[in-house]
Amino acid sequence: AAVMPAGFDRSSPLGLPAGGFEVLFNISDISEIHALDAGACDGIGLLRTEFLLSSAADLANEEKQFQLYCEILKWAGGRPVTIRLFDLGGDKPLGGFGLEERNPFLGLRGIRLLLSMPTMLRIQARALLRAAALGSIKVLLPMVTFPGEVTDTRRIFEEEAASLAHRHVAISMPAIGMMVEVPAAAIMLDMFEDADFFSLGTNDLAQYLTAAARDNPTVADLYQQAVPALLRLIAQTVAVAHDMGKPIGICGDLAGDPEHLSSLIASGIRQISIAPSQLAAVKTAQMQAGMDG
Ligand code: PEP
Ligand code: MG
Repeated sequence: AAVMPAGFDRSSPLGLPAGGFEVLFNISDISEIHALDAGACDGIGLLRTEFLLSSAADLANEEKQFQLYCEILKWAGGRPVTIRLFDLGGDKPLGGFGLEERNPFLGLRGIRLLLSMPTMLRIQARALLRAAALGSIKVLLPMVTFPGEVTDTRRIFEEEAASLAHRHVAISMPAIGMMVEVPAAAIMLDMFEDADFFSLGTNDLAQYLTAAARDNPTVADLYQQAVPALLRLIAQTVAVAHDMGKPIGICGDLAGDPEHLSSLIASGIRQISIAPSQLAAVKTAQMQAGMDG
């Protein structure tokens, strides 16, 4: 039997932690939050900003982005809100990004695309720096592969913060973390000292581990079979993050599957971010395991 790490409730049948387990929401659409009570979650663990905007022009609209972030902060009522930078390209073609590539899932997407279009990145950084002055914001970088991408992005945030502060605009520097969804990043996690926190993206991680596209029904079965490989990699990654003293959570769909909750907890996961529609099933699994809330 597995050795139970410190902090676990040994009387619980599944060995679940006695407390300190956080459930946050993944949000892709502003209309979603109006139907939700913020009190039902511990905050937003993933705001997919590429789906908040309706046109390519919005990608250049700092004011519109700022207003959207403010609206979400207001809804969250002091709970933390993790906002992911535009994850464009691949399966998320707002503005036409990715569509012209032969292999968009393996192309210029996520943070690679943003760093290649720094004007767009700087606009989003300014909107986020301003919103961070008004609430608890964390910034999440999509599709990070190498540590330099985090360092370069952080430098851009620092430059924009300095120039806004120079103009006496109220700002705050948010924590900057990264998605762990590219295998090279998961394997080399200890190299990412520049990231303040980690969030495992099991949807893309499964896709890149199995070489099976997440949107291709022909290979959906392979993608499903990725769970054991994912769980092993997650356990290794969580252990490294703990050694580094950095927070790590999961925001991919695996986190909202009650079947795997006890495995994730046994790996040391203490924070999951799930689709709001998965909350009832996850809460039921938590209760059955004697770990309420
Ligand atoms: C993921 O890849 O697991 C993830 C949470 O992000 P997205 O589904 O938006 O790619
Ligand atoms: Mg992803």
